[in-house]
Parts: sequence; C-alpha cells; structure tokens
Amino acid sequence: MIEVKHVSKTYGKKHNEFVALDDVSFEIPSGSSVAIVGKSGSGKSTLMHVMSGLDRPEKGEVIIGGQNILKMKQKAVDHFRATKMSFIFQSFFIQGNETCYDNVGLPLEIARIASKKRKDMILAALRAVELEDKIKVRAKNLSGGQKQRLAIARAIVSEPKVLFADEPTGNLDSTTGETIENLLFDYCKTYKATLIIVTHDSELASKCDMAINIRDGRIQAIRGGKTEVAS
Ligand code: ADP
Repeated sequence: MIEVKHVSKTYGKKHNEFVALDDVSFEIPSGSSVAIVGKSGSGKSTLMHVMSGLDRPEKGEVIIGGQNILKMKQKAVDHFRATKMSFIFQSFFIQGNETCYDNVGLPLEIARIASKKRKDMILAALRAVELEDKIKVRAKNLSGGQKQRLAIARAIVSEPKVLFADEPTGNLDSTTGETIENLLFDYCKTYKATLIIVTHDSELASKCDMAINIRDGRIQAIRGGKTEVAS
C-alpha cells in the first residue's frame, strides 16, 4: 500500500512562492495500476517525485509498505529507491555507447547485487522485452521502440515493487506504445508490483485500476481504489 497523506509542496520563497501540491491525500493498494492525469503544470511530476522520495514536501506523509519515507535519512531513502522502485521516462536515459547488457546491468550494480547473480537477472529482463538478440548491441543503434523496451528491461531487472513511468508512450507510435503498455502491465501482474503512470493519454488511463486527476496541485477526482471521490 502507498499512502499519501496531506502532502503540500511549495517551490520558491515568500514573494515567489508557488504551491505545486496542495493538501494531496490518497491511497494506492499494492499491486494496482494507477494513472496520474492532468494538464501540463498541474503537479503530476512533483507528485511522482514526492512519492518516490526524490523530493521532500513541506507538509504531509508518504508511507510505502508501512514505512514513512519522509522520516528516513537520505541514505536510507536512496537505498529504498534503489531496491524497491524503478523509473521509466519518456526520454529513456539510456547510455548510447554502452551495450544493452551493460545498460540493463547498471541498476544491479547500484543496488550492489553480486555479479554472479547479475547475469541471469539481466538475461531474464532482456528476454521479457524481447531484446535477447541485442545483448551486445550498443543502445544508440536501437530503434525508438527498442530503446524504450531497453529502458523497461533496465527498470524491471531489479524486480521493483513500485514502478513509476512518466509518459512512457509519449513519443511512440500507437502499436509500439501498446507493446510498451503491455510490458508494463504484464510485469506488474507477474510480480504483484504497483504501477504508477503519469500520462496525458486517457485511453491508457482507462486501462489502469485507478486514475488520480490533478489540477492546480489539487486532487480533482479519483476513480477506482478504495473510495470514489469527486469534487
Ligand atoms: P506537471 O508534471 O503536471 O506538468 P509539475 O509537477 O512539473 O507539473 O509542475 C507543477 C508546477 O510547479 C508548475 O507550475 C511548474 O512550473 C512548477 N515547478 C515545478 N518544478 C519547479 C521548480 N523546481 N521550481 C519552481 N517551480 C517549479
């Protein structure tokens, strides 16, 4: 379960203060898929950063699996992120000059997984996204869709319990986008992981168990989950 309780996040100081999140609360049951929807500038990325411990809000609590991540020391948060969470962004963030194998292996190095164990995990992740024949290919030589599949392999290789995806299909054609969506949903089903997707795509949002609608830093509506809320 992920619990977000009365979270407020402000950017800037005094005269330039901007409230990006205003008393945001909701609960996400473990293993569900959630879409965070809203216009550009509504606070979606800020919310994702706060939920993943990347950013600290001024007020509120973020409790993941019973642990209040805002009460943890930064080192503990970093470890929590490296072992329990993964991120997929629209602009892949893969290392073009590195091979697919090395790109996928990177999070395992960061999480300090023993090198003996790494190989099997890397191969399993590349197999899951059907890139096992590209192991030795440099990432820059992949197509856009393949790069995004590689980014997914890298995100799932450490078997995270929470997967964050920021507009994961934004730059892709609809067929490739659908492949990516299916990979994300399949992973979460198999590993009972929670999937949190920031998206503009209402069709993708409708495929998720829950949708959280945000506007000007406030929750406007929540579909699915434990309660239906509309305001
Ligand atoms: P979204 O992801 O929905 O586009 P964001 O969470 O990125 O929205 O941003 C919400 C609001 O907070 C926007 O108005 C944005 O300009 C502002 N904002 C985001 N990051 C910063 C920052 N580091 N400093 C100041 N304002 C910021």
